[in-house]
Amino acid sequence: MSLIRAFIALEIPPVLQNIIAQHSAILQKEAPHIVRWVAPVNIHLTLKFLGETSAASLQELVHALAAVTAQQPPFSISVGGFGVFPNPKRPRVLWIGIQAPPELGHLSHAIETACARLGYPAEEKPFNPHLTLGRVREDADQTRLRPALQNYQIGQLGAINVESVTLFRSDLRPQGPSYTALAHIPLAKLDP
Ligand code: ATP
Ligand code: MG
Repeated sequence: MSLIRAFIALEIPPVLQNIIAQHSAILQKEAPHIVRWVAPVNIHLTLKFLGETSAASLQELVHALAAVTAQQPPFSISVGGFGVFPNPKRPRVLWIGIQAPPELGHLSHAIETACARLGYPAEEKPFNPHLTLGRVREDADQTRLRPALQNYQIGQLGAINVESVTLFRSDLRPQGPSYTALAHIPLAKLDP
């Protein structure tokens, strides 16, 4: 049985992807090789990593997700701010921040519960939503990167109007992952 590497995420509108791409390009000049940069078209807000799973299980999951998202009216997330995990002295993940209403946390929690019911392992870390720009390579020399990151600022970039969640397939390749949307699962329809 062939397995599919999959995750659930919110997509970023192309206009925001373009703005993020400009910031990414500026930062890349400071550290082109020691960071694995996320291709702007791949930038997303991860809700749940599923790992390797069967097509049948994913089909079941889409049904379960539809029941969850049908309970959640659309909402909006602001995108802006720049930071690193775990801390500026030892940057590992470079990210753009988001400012979200409680609905995002509720949605994440409900998706986590639905996934757990279907046997997907629970996420151990608390939900900490962000948009990953790049990941610093292990054992990289950060002499030039660290001060550049500490001085870099990103203001408010725009909004994501969340109207659906996406189930993505991820194919890992040496030149970087390739994501394919397998299903768009709509949130509740707003009353007219
Ligand atoms: P690469 O692994 O080649 O750097 P990637 O991380 O973008 O590429 P995936 O590993 O397939 O691609 O991950 C897809 C999404 O799931 C990303 O948002 C990633 O951060 C997240 N993710 C991957 N592994 C885990 C994990 N073990 N726990 C939580 N989230 C994960
Ligand atoms: Mg990964």
